[in-house]
Formats: sequence, structure tokens, C-alpha cells
Amino acid sequence: MTALSIAFRTSRISSAPIRVGIRAFSSTVKASKMKVVPVLVSADNYAYLLIDEPTGKAAVVDVLDVEKVQAVADKEGVSIVAGITTHHHQDHSGGNKAYTGAQRAPLIYTIDIVKFTLIPFKVSTYPSIPVYGGFDVPAKTDLVEDGGEFTVGDNIHVRCLATPCHTKDSICFHVTDTSNKSQSGGVFTGDTLFLGGCGRFFEGTAEQMHTSLSKLATLPDNTVVYNGHEYTAGNVAFAKTIEPDNPAIGRLFKLAQENKVTTGLSTIGDEKEWNVFMRLDKDAIKRVTGAEEPGAVMNKLRELKNNFRG
Ligand SMILES: [Zn+2]
Repeated sequence: MTALSIAFRTSRISSAPIRVGIRAFSSTVKASKMKVVPVLVSADNYAYLLIDEPTGKAAVVDVLDVEKVQAVADKEGVSIVAGITTHHHQDHSGGNKAYTGAQRAPLIYTIDIVKFTLIPFKVSTYPSIPVYGGFDVPAKTDLVEDGGEFTVGDNIHVRCLATPCHTKDSICFHVTDTSNKSQSGGVFTGDTLFLGGCGRFFEGTAEQMHTSLSKLATLPDNTVVYNGHEYTAGNVAFAKTIEPDNPAIGRLFKLAQENKVTTGLSTIGDEKEWNVFMRLDKDAIKRVTGAEEPGAVMNKLRELKNNFRG
């Protein structure tokens, strides 16, 4: 482990005040040292580069298309030194093996004519790097669990939040810049929390999703949300049918209309206002679902969303 090392720096983190209201990608914030660059792969699938600007080192989050991510890293002038994976699904983890030696570029041999032995000419396209992920994540090198911490470059602190339900191994990664305490933190939510929505319950229960989203709700309100897919337009169309009188949902609708890429334009505070899956205690939502207990409300909401054809 060279550029990235496990570290426990909670004392520096816990004292970090956080400025409210940073929505734009940090490329527009000159003083920032943590920069997040979304890489849209296929129609709606996000990978990210999480960049520590002073060191020029980056972690790649949820990589599938390794070449595309590398091209963005080259353009940004940064080296990829770590992989971070939110859950085991192929569209979030499929590129990991390129970094961990589990899949190398095809070997091309040359012959040593003196010894008559084969010598590998080309071994790997990409460097071996630590890949962090939960227990079902393929080609990981470093298993992470709830509460785990590590560092990217010199300045980015990462804290792991177990959020099982979409998959049992789902982990959200809360990131903060230890050197720039005025910068908002961010959270990579994979397929657990989407802007205005949440993931399907493939390996868990409605109660677990409620617990997981409630855990995310404990992050500072100004924490920027970086989700796994561009589903915002569909989510807000559904949300309008559940809480038509919620003005925050009107704001999300406008945001989705005006931005092709919405990831990074929402915060945990926003989600509490416009994400119906984080508002189970609201009377309007209880009324629509005909349920009272959070698990039952969540279950009905998910069922309605699964059948929604907006
Ligand atoms: Zn998934």
C-alpha cells in the first residue's frame, strides 16, 4: 500500500466545521482540495474520481468502464491510487479486477533464445491498487465494514457506513477534506440513496432500508450526495404523485429539468425535504400508503414505485 494508507484521524475530522451550501463540483471552488468528478458510463450509470488535488492522487468509485475512467483521470492529470466500491453489482464493481491482478491484459510472450524460456512482455495495463468494498464485492483487496476509515492521498478522510438492503454488502462512503475544513463533505451512496429515491430491496427488507436511510440522515445536512445512477427525473415524477403539495419536490423537479447530470446537486438536507423514502413520518405519505409504521410505509412506497409508470 503506497499512496493510500489506512489511518484513523477522527480527532481532526470531528472538529471540522462545515460550510453550508456548496452544491457545485469543487472544480469551481478554488480553495478546495477535495474534488469529485462524475463519470457517466452508459445511459445512467455513474463512476467517480475522488481527487486529492495537492497530491494529484485519486480514488475511483464504482468503476465498470476502466478505460473511460482512466481517460478522465488523464485529462485531470491525476493518478488513480485506490478503488472504492459501494456494492457487488456488476455495474458498480465490474472494473475492479483490472486493478487487482485478477484480470490482466493478455500476456504477450517473447522467447529467450539462449535459455529457451518464455518471458512475459506485457503484464498489466493498470497498476495494482487497494480496492475497498464490502464482503461480497469482487476483486476487493481491503474488506470494509461499518465504521471503517481510510485516507485517499494526504487529505481525504473516508468513513464507511454499512447500509444493507439493496444488497447485503452495501456500504456508503462519507468523505471529508481534513485540510479544508470549510468544504462540505460528500457521500457516495451507490444504489442505496438516489436523488429523490432509493434502491430496490434486492437483498433486504423495508425495515433495513429505513434504517439505512436514517443512518445517512445523521450526516451533516450540507453533505453532498453522489449517487449510483441518474434516476432523478423518474424519481421526482413518482414523488409528485405521493406528495403533490411539497414545495421541495417542485424544486427537485426544476433541478431535474435544468440539469442532465444531477448527481452532486443535492445534499442530505435536501433529501430529507424532497425524498419521500426519507419522509416516512409525514402525514401525507402515511395517508397515501395507508400505513403507519415506518417499515410498512416504506414497503408500500417501494411497491408503488416498482409499479409506477410515469
Ligand atoms: Zn445495484
